[in-house]
Amino acid sequence: MSATSPRTASRTTARGSRRTARRGFAAALAAAGAVIAAAVPAAATPAAEDVTPEQELTDALTVVDQYWTDNYEWYFGEEYTAPLVYTGSEGVQGMYTSGVDSYACGGEEGLVPSNALHCAEPVGEDWIAMSDDLLHEGTAQIGDAFVYAVVAHEWAHAIQQRQPGWTAPWTELQADCIAGATLAEATDQGLLSWDEGDEEELAVGLQAVADETGWTDTTSHGSAEERIAFFQHGVDEGVEGCLYDGLQP
Ligand SMILES: [Zn+2]
Repeated sequence: MSATSPRTASRTTARGSRRTARRGFAAALAAAGAVIAAAVPAAATPAAEDVTPEQELTDALTVVDQYWTDNYEWYFGEEYTAPLVYTGSEGVQGMYTSGVDSYACGGEEGLVPSNALHCAEPVGEDWIAMSDDLLHEGTAQIGDAFVYAVVAHEWAHAIQQRQPGWTAPWTELQADCIAGATLAEATDQGLLSWDEGDEEELAVGLQAVADETGWTDTTSHGSAEERIAFFQHGVDEGVEGCLYDGLQP
């Protein structure tokens, strides 16, 4: 998955990519549940050459923020305000170093290892961050699409905070749905292109790393199967499909 320069993006190409992405994701979805153990090595493809995980993070933050800058007011009739992005001791936008950086969220340490978060406090200055170990392990074990999925998911929590009517008991899965919608619509709008294998990376990868990190803790975020299903629903139906249309875990 990679950011697309708006100058070179072709909407026709982007739509074609998305159709391919949907087919690939659906196939990966079907395969993921059945043969996860066999599929894991094939899914562990390295990230795109010449792009560091840190650069992927920077690109993903840019794409997702641009998507909401372009679309938020259309959906909600209100001016968009972006969440802040935490930058840790390594100086990488959006990344903190586990065990080194410390920053409170609501009176508790927010920067726990192997996690990503949207911190809703202080109100009006909410922020998102992702740990260096989650970034590196996720990229190595799943692939670059993981970084985009995490960023889109955390940004979705910021959107949920701005539109509290959205917040439901299934907040985490709704965030996965919105993340899928964000990445699919960003692709339609020429901000992003999907590489071959991205969808498989996500589907198989999430299965493989379930419960290994805070971000993939199934007790708080739902099972890997649920997460994939909600992400896929967002890909297929868009942001509107993540509203209250009978979608329940
Ligand atoms: Zn979440």
